[in-house]
Amino acid sequence: MTASHQHERSDALMERARRVLPGGVNSPVRAYRAVGGEPVVLAGGSGALVTDVDGNEYIDYVASFGPLILGHAHPAVVGAVRDAAERGTSFGAPTEAETELAERIVEAVPSIELVRLVNSGTEATMSALRLARAATGRDLILKFDGCYHGHADGLLASAGSGVATFALPDSPGVPEAFAAQTLVVPFNDLDAVERTFAAHAGAIACVIVEPVAGNMGLIPAADGYLAGLRDICDRHDALLLFDEVITGFRVAPGGAQQHFEVTPDLTALGKVIGGGLPVGAYGGRLDLMERMAPQGDVYQAGTLSGNPLATAAGIAALDTLAADEGAYARLDELGARLQEGLAGAAADAGIALSVSRIGSALTPFFRDGLPGDYAAARECDLDAFGRFHRAMLERGVLAPPSQFETWFVSLAHDEDLIDRTVAVAAEALAEVAASG
Ligand SMILES: *Cc1c(COP(=O)(O)O)cnc(C)c1O
Repeated sequence: MTASHQHERSDALMERARRVLPGGVNSPVRAYRAVGGEPVVLAGGSGALVTDVDGNEYIDYVASFGPLILGHAHPAVVGAVRDAAERGTSFGAPTEAETELAERIVEAVPSIELVRLVNSGTEATMSALRLARAATGRDLILKFDGCYHGHADGLLASAGSGVATFALPDSPGVPEAFAAQTLVVPFNDLDAVERTFAAHAGAIACVIVEPVAGNMGLIPAADGYLAGLRDICDRHDALLLFDEVITGFRVAPGGAQQHFEVTPDLTALGKVIGGGLPVGAYGGRLDLMERMAPQGDVYQAGTLSGNPLATAAGIAALDTLAADEGAYARLDELGARLQEGLAGAAADAGIALSVSRIGSALTPFFRDGLPGDYAAARECDLDAFGRFHRAMLERGVLAPPSQFETWFVSLAHDEDLIDRTVAVAAEALAEVAASG
C-alpha cells in the first residue's frame, strides 16, 4: 500500500485506446471524468485484489460494477467456464445449462415463475417493459429520477424539476417522442406517484424501480415505499417492475423483493447471475411471461442469449453462494465493518460523510445525513469525492470512480483487507481535509 503509484503503462495504453475507442473506453462509467485523472488499465484480478498493467495492486470495490460477489477469478467460476468452452461456446440450440440457471432463478426469486435469459441488464429491462406494455395495452411508463435501468432509448430519461414532468431525453439521439413515453418522479415520494397516476388515469403500463437505488449512490427505499408502490399499481391496474440487476442475489438470494417482502409483477436481473459474464434475465408471473414468443405474441430474441459460457459462470456463482450458508451474513458483517470504518475515519478527519449500506453494497456520500433521493445525493461535495478517490487509488484502493456509484464488498474480502482499506481511507480523508 505505498503511496504515489507509477501509472506509465496505464497512461500510454489509455492514450492508445483513445485513438480507436471513444474516450478510450467501452462504457463511459469506466472513464474518470467524474473524479479527474486517468483510469488505471487492469491486467488481472484474484479474489478481492486487482493488478494494473504497471504492476500496482489494489483492493477492489468496483467488482465489475456489481457482478463479482465471489471476487475475481473464483476457481469454481473459472473452472466452469473452461469446461464449458471446451464443449463449444455457442450453438443456437437449447442446452441443459440454460434450464439449470433458469431453475435456480425461479427457485430463489419469489415473483418469478417463468424467466427469459438475455445478454445484459439493458436488454432485460427493455424487454420486460415491452411485455408490460403488451400486457396492459398502455404505453406510458413511470420511472424515478436517478434510477438507472440500462441505456435503452425510453429509459435514458431523468427528470426536470417538479413532479411528473414528461421526461426530456438525457442523451442526444433519443427521440423526444420516445422519452415522452416515460414519466419521471423523485424516488421515495409516494405522493408524487399518486399524483402522476391521477393525472394519467388508465394510461400508465408500468412502474419501474430499483428497489434499492444503486446508480445515484446507494439509496434504499424508505420504509413502506415499495409496499406503497405495490398498492398504487394494484389500484390502477398497472404492473410493478423491480429492476434487481444489482440487488438480485446481492442483498439476498431472492433479491430486494425477498428482503423487503414486496412482490413485483416483473423482475429484471443481471450482474451477479452471470458470475462476471454477460448475462441478463427478466421474469415474473406465469400469465405475463407466457405472452413471450414463441409461447405468446410478444417478440424478443437473442443469438447469444443463454450462452453456454455465461450460463456456466452463472450456475457456478449461484451454486457457490448457495453452498455457503453463512454467505449473506458474512457479506453483511464485512459491509458493516467498512461502513463503520469509513464513517469513523471521516469523523476523525472532520469531513462530512454519511455512509449508506444494505448488506455488502454501500456508498460514502460526502454530505451530512443520508440522501433519500437523487436531488439530495447531488448536494454532495463532488470535488471532495474526486480528491478522495484519487488519494485512495494512489494508496492501493480502487473505488468506483463516481460519487453516484455503489461500492461492492465480496466474499473474497476479509477483515484484514477491510481494515487496511479503512486505514488508507483515514489517510485519504486527512489529505482531503488538508486540501479543502
Ligand atoms: C447495471 C444496471 C443495468 C444495466 O445492465 P447492463 O448489463 O449494464 O446493461 C440496469 N439496471 C440496473 C439497476 C443496473 O445497475
